[in-house]
Formats: sequence, C-alpha cells, structure tokens
Amino acid sequence: MARKIQVSVDHDVCVGNAMCVTIATKAFKLNADRQATPADPDGDTEALILEAAENCPVAAITVTDGDTGEQLFP
Ligand code: SF4
Repeated sequence: MARKIQVSVDHDVCVGNAMCVTIATKAFKLNADRQATPADPDGDTEALILEAAENCPVAAITVTDGDTGEQLFP
C-alpha cells in the first residue's frame, strides 16, 4: 500500500504559475488568490506529487511522509 503523503505550500513564495496544479491535478488546486493549496494528496501518486514539487520554480512545495514525518522534498 502506498504511504500517506502530506504536502504544504509556502504562500510567501508561491507565484501562482500553476505548474504543480498542471502536474498533480488532484493534490493541488489554486485558491482565490491564485496560489496553490494542498487538495487531495491521495488523488495523485507519490511520484507525480514529487515531480510537481521538483518543478515548482520557487521551491514553495514541501512533501513529507504523513506517517513518519520524514521530509521527502526538498
Ligand atoms: S508550482 Fe510553485 S509557484 Fe507555481 S503554483 Fe505551484 S506552488 Fe505556486
């Protein structure tokens, strides 16, 4: 079974270019301020979520293992 993934977005640096939303369409959504927010982390694979985080131009996304708290990205 896939491990539980948690994501967070630093709104102090997110520039709202929607790259993460395009890659991991379920795990992220844009809020009314056009900044990414975590949505359904179970909706996308861990690989897709990590790919989204890696492609954020301002490194706003942190990915952790929801069970152990281990930081997976960055
Ligand atoms: S890719 Fe990064 S900067 Fe772009 S919307 Fe997502 S979190 Fe914000």
